[in-house]
Amino acid sequence: MHYLPNDDPEVAKIIQQEEARIENTLDLIAAENHAPRSVFEAQGSIFSTKAAEGYPGRRFHAGCVHVDELESLAISRAERLFHADHANLQPHSGVSANLAIYFSVLDVGDRILSMKLSHGGHLSHGDPSSITSKCFHFRHYGLDARTERIDYDEVREAAETFRPRMIIAGASSYPRLIDYEKMSDIAKSVSAYLLVDMAHIAGLVAAGVIPSPVPHADFVTFTTYKTLKGGRGGVILCKKEYERKISKTIFPGAQGTPSLNLLAAKAVCFKLAMEPGFKEEQIKTLENAAAFAAGFERKGYRIVSGGTDNHLVLVDLRSKGLTGDAAEKTLESVGIVVNRNVIPGDPEKPDVTSGIRIGSPGVTTRGMGEVEVAQIVELMDTTMADRKDSHILEQVSQGVADLCRKFPVYKKT
Ligand SMILES: *Cc1c(COP(=O)(O)O)cnc(C)c1O
Repeated sequence: MHYLPNDDPEVAKIIQQEEARIENTLDLIAAENHAPRSVFEAQGSIFSTKAAEGYPGRRFHAGCVHVDELESLAISRAERLFHADHANLQPHSGVSANLAIYFSVLDVGDRILSMKLSHGGHLSHGDPSSITSKCFHFRHYGLDARTERIDYDEVREAAETFRPRMIIAGASSYPRLIDYEKMSDIAKSVSAYLLVDMAHIAGLVAAGVIPSPVPHADFVTFTTYKTLKGGRGGVILCKKEYERKISKTIFPGAQGTPSLNLLAAKAVCFKLAMEPGFKEEQIKTLENAAAFAAGFERKGYRIVSGGTDNHLVLVDLRSKGLTGDAAEKTLESVGIVVNRNVIPGDPEKPDVTSGIRIGSPGVTTRGMGEVEVAQIVELMDTTMADRKDSHILEQVSQGVADLCRKFPVYKKT
């Protein structure tokens, strides 16, 4: 920072404090990751002021020669990385990408079948509190009560009785793989579109370490700031035949100038995701998540669905007599940042919950492996078990600080 401390010392100070918080705490929020500095340089670049309504070669403003170059480069990288027919990189966020899909191919009032929020789905998939539910008629499928996995027979049955025009696969707190081929079969059998929202797992898919939905879905949406490490922003991948409809829905339909600075950052993250180091890191992300699941199981916690196939683990805290809310607060007090989360069939209110959701991306990006994950599980279990003992909590804080110092997020420059 060169100019900000002079122009606005208050904001400069808050940014410095946030940097310190990120360095000195362990980020286990499954929806987050640590983006490289190059992504921030692109986000904070000169591409923050240009007006550029439209698409490459078809702009409504002059002076777009470099904007066009940038957007074309980013699009071709996204298409190559995800083996997609077409990419639209203009949505401001994951939610705006989903809205653009709905309004591109559906009419207001149409039926959509998606996963229940309380079983792992997302607000923008028709939760009553989301505007999506005011525009479209949603029905939700849940998880099998015993296996805590998607019950594809239930999805098929719901599709046959509800006759949706679109089916959504994808979730925010589902630790298992989704069978996209099965979902596509079901969608085809009732002539519905299939949208896969892979917000959380885009990095794992980009690296090819879990199956890709792209060959099976009509549309794929995601955000770049989660496993993909690209800073904030939404992306749409689709079959070529939908390109025009989607382009028009986003501009002029719902947005003006895209965030070109975020578009620059997207281009950078796609390039980095094609490098061999990225794949290694995503493999470690999977290994570390499995290590979290095994570690908590050994400590006597119940793991929702019995384990994980991706970057996240849902831990049921009921056997320890603790709510998700209490765990989140106590863990944050010792520098471990993790979020409370509903578990399937949760008896607690959504703002209290019986579970925590643990993500491995952040600590993996810091270079931690299974040895450190085992240490973190130990620290977390001690914190939750001895949450009234300030002496023990002080020792845990020390342990967290030591780990953070040994594995910095950003090297000092
Ligand atoms: C995080 C998430 C989103 C929202 O993305 P934003 O960029 O925060 O709008 C959408 N869908 C799913 C499944 C998510 O997990």
